[in-house]
Amino acid sequence: MQKWEQIQGVYIHTPFCLQKCLYCDFASYAGADTETMEKYVDAVCSEIMMRSNEVTIADQATLYFGGGTPSLLSEKLLAKLVEALQKNGCWLQPAEATIEVNPGTADLDKLRFFKDLGFDRISFGVQSLNDAELRAVGRIHTANEALDAITMAEKAGFTRVSADLIYGLPEQSLQTLKTSLQNLTAAGLQHLSVYGLTIEKNTPLAGMLDKGKVELPDEDCQLAMYELVQEYLEAQGLHRYEISNYAVSGQESRHNLVYWHYLPYLSFGSSACSFNGSQRFTATDSVTDYIESIQSGKSCGGFEDLTKEMQLSEYLFMGLRTTVGIDLIETEQRFGCDVMLEFGVELEKFIRGNLVFCDIEHRRMRLTEQGMRFSNEIFEIFVK
Ligand code: SF4
Repeated sequence: MQKWEQIQGVYIHTPFCLQKCLYCDFASYAGADTETMEKYVDAVCSEIMMRSNEVTIADQATLYFGGGTPSLLSEKLLAKLVEALQKNGCWLQPAEATIEVNPGTADLDKLRFFKDLGFDRISFGVQSLNDAELRAVGRIHTANEALDAITMAEKAGFTRVSADLIYGLPEQSLQTLKTSLQNLTAAGLQHLSVYGLTIEKNTPLAGMLDKGKVELPDEDCQLAMYELVQEYLEAQGLHRYEISNYAVSGQESRHNLVYWHYLPYLSFGSSACSFNGSQRFTATDSVTDYIESIQSGKSCGGFEDLTKEMQLSEYLFMGLRTTVGIDLIETEQRFGCDVMLEFGVELEKFIRGNLVFCDIEHRRMRLTEQGMRFSNEIFEIFVK
């Protein structure tokens, strides 16, 4: 069986947070009580039981608990989820099992518990190591708490620890960004996901910007920040392996590579999205609707059939997010498409402009470093 015919990654969504960050438009909610969390976890366990036997799951499928804030769930609820995954063949010998942790919810006992449960990788939502920046976007933790959480994770026995960082934050300067990067690499992190702040409509931050209550770094400064991230992390031995992701070799997130390689994955929980190679299933983002539909045995979401053209274009722009790019032979095997024949005319100007590199000898295509900055413009050619 080809790897694109069986589930390579399993995701569990936790839609709860202690407090909503001002920039966040994810499907996550603050203020849920214990009863709601219990009902939600029961529903996810039932969904695991109902849907896992419809697919073939690879022995070493990766596991990822994301959110929201999975670390907000009690030990009892997390153990219940892990048990349901194990009993239903979704957690065999995972190649990697990651849990996202908000540093404001971490303590040593909890982190040790995650390790005992079988997680071998932690992804901390740090975002910044500057208190003024953290406050400006409503994060629940301080810079020191984030650094303490990283130290505690090591004490708890985690050797694979990642952090998310944002550039372009209110109050942020090139220097404070550099300090955050320095402190994170000095703390021994071998994986970082670094995103530019995007202002999503209808978030409190968008409203504050409209009213002139906050200011963002100007465009030149944001470009300098983008360049600083790459230069600094490369110099520290964290190579860029995807548009927003950097790692010491061997520390790349295998779970995220499942998405970028356009391989099938199975997800459980509200708003979670699954992909079986030709269809996408998206669950409702309402926690109440999700619980009710599972309790009454109904489907908690809808399927979208992806045409061959849609699959090909998604495969191309997901694969080209990685610095190794795509294998043109595999593309032909999987989709029956010769990329250069199909898109050669449109690609030509990007190849001439040194934004796309086509390695004819090794039959690979990738974006150049310059091309990564203009990825959205390049990806448009694949959407027919
Ligand atoms: S912790 Fe993450 S998911 Fe929760 S509100 Fe903040 S950014 Fe959103």
